[in-house]
Amino acid sequence: MSSAVCGTCPRHCRIAEGVFGFCRARKATDGRVVAANYGKITSLALDPIEKKPIAFFHSGENVLSVGSFGCNLRCPFCQNDSISQRGENGVSCQSATPVELADLALKVRRERGNLGLAYTYNEPLVGWEFVRDCAREVHTRGMFNVLVSNGCAEAAVVEELAPLIDAANIDLKGPSQEYYDWVGGDFAAVCRTIRMLHAAGCHVEVTTLVVPGRNDTESDIDAIAAFVASVSPEIPLHVTRFFPRFQMSNAQPTPVAVVRHLAEAAGKRLKRVLTGNI
Ligand code: SF4
Repeated sequence: MSSAVCGTCPRHCRIAEGVFGFCRARKATDGRVVAANYGKITSLALDPIEKKPIAFFHSGENVLSVGSFGCNLRCPFCQNDSISQRGENGVSCQSATPVELADLALKVRRERGNLGLAYTYNEPLVGWEFVRDCAREVHTRGMFNVLVSNGCAEAAVVEELAPLIDAANIDLKGPSQEYYDWVGGDFAAVCRTIRMLHAAGCHVEVTTLVVPGRNDTESDIDAIAAFVASVSPEIPLHVTRFFPRFQMSNAQPTPVAVVRHLAEAAGKRLKRVLTGNI
């Protein structure tokens, strides 16, 4: 049976014809890997931009936020596992074209105020072609594109999307490949995505979820802050509190004092550090 290799993320899945890749969003069809979640919408909501979280880009305004299904990571603490850790048979979807979504974003802008579209909830980059096509439509209507992502993608994908993305929040989940081995990702690829988006002129903010016993030491946050500062000390860092979820539903939440202490430590390198979920 024929197979195809996916070049979207560092996993480079080799996928047999008719089968899905690790992310459950991409599928080998006619000898090519395509986004099976293209135009399949699982979530749609008008959210405050601060909820992304993005604190320093049009604060106080709302953005129409859209999600599909699938993810290329397997974080045991996933907050959105009902869509990100499912394939097309495990979720209910509505179909929408990029033109329909961009028109909806414009309608919502006129009626309720809306910055544009945010690609979020599941991992948007496993369906990056839909992000690209929506983003072009959104720009032609004079609105903004916001990306909320784990950043674990190949450079060619980020290069194609970067000129279309106005603001992004990228997770830098941990300080090393060792941490990313735990969640099934590629540390260097995430760092590269942050650098590339910033270099392209995108407004970039970074989020680190502090998980007890995994990335909660001062040296962990210092390594994360050092990397972010090497891109720019102006990049805002959100240091957020873990709550029990998914495969870690029996764990304890991160103590608030730990989150505050780590945010203070990150502030030695970065000008804007915020706490979240406390
Ligand atoms: S995007 Fe999905 S199919 Fe492609 S390499 Fe990554 S996990 Fe595999």
